[in-house]
Amino acid sequence: MSRPAVLLDRDGTVIREIDYLRAVDQLRLLPGAAKAIRFLHEGGLAVVILTNQSGIARGLLTEDDLAEIHQEMTRRLARRGATVDAIYYCPHHPEATVAQYRKNCDCRKPAAGLLRRAARELDLDLARSYVIGDRARDLEPGRSAGCRTVLVRTGYGAEEEGAWREEWRPDHVADNLTRAAEWILMQEVRHLVQEGLQEVRHLLQEPTALAETELSPPTPDPCEPH
Ligand SMILES: [Mg+2]
Ligand SMILES: [Zn+2]
Repeated sequence: MSRPAVLLDRDGTVIREIDYLRAVDQLRLLPGAAKAIRFLHEGGLAVVILTNQSGIARGLLTEDDLAEIHQEMTRRLARRGATVDAIYYCPHHPEATVAQYRKNCDCRKPAAGLLRRAARELDLDLARSYVIGDRARDLEPGRSAGCRTVLVRTGYGAEEEGAWREEWRPDHVADNLTRAAEWILMQEVRHLVQEGLQEVRHLLQEPTALAETELSPPTPDPCEPH
C-alpha cells in the first residue's frame, strides 16, 4: 500500500544554505533538523530529500563528491536517530559547462520529475504527502502533484515569504523544520481522529445483529405485577 511522505528540500531546509556546497567540511545540519526528521519518521511518514545540484553541471563538484557529502549528512542524522528513506538530486542545468549535464531536464525543480520519480520508486501516496522547502520552486512540484506545501523561514525562506509573487500560497509557513514537523504531525493526528470518527459513525449506522437485539423491546418480566 502506498504511504504518505514528507519530501524535503536539502539546502536551507535540512542543512545550512551556502552557495554550491562542495565539500564535507562545509556541511552543517540546521538546529533541530535531525529531531524533526526523526519525529516525522516515527510518525509513520517516509522522509525523502529532493535537491537541485547544478554545481555538478557547473563543474564545481562531481557526483562522487556529492555522494560523499550525502553519506556524511546521513551519518550525522543517523547519529541523532533520524532516518532518511532516500535522497534524489538533479545534476543538470540548461547552460551547464560540463556537456553531459547540459539539458532542459524534467527533474530540476520547479519541475516535478524528481518528486514523481520518488513517488514511483518508493510507492508514495502524493495526495497524502507534504513538501517542505525554503523557496517557491521547491514547493511548486508539490503543489502540482496535490501535496500539501510548507515554506520554512530558514535559508532563503524569510526573503521568499516577503517576495511571494505567485498567485498561490503555501498551505503553511513555519519558522524552521521543527515547527514544520509539528504542524505536519498535527495534520496527521487530525486525519487519524477524523478516520476514527468515520469508523465509529459507520459502526453506529450498521444494522448488526447485536444492535437489533439491543433495540428490540425488552421481554416483559413475568414476576412483575400487571
Ligand atoms: Mg533550499
Ligand atoms: Zn535534472
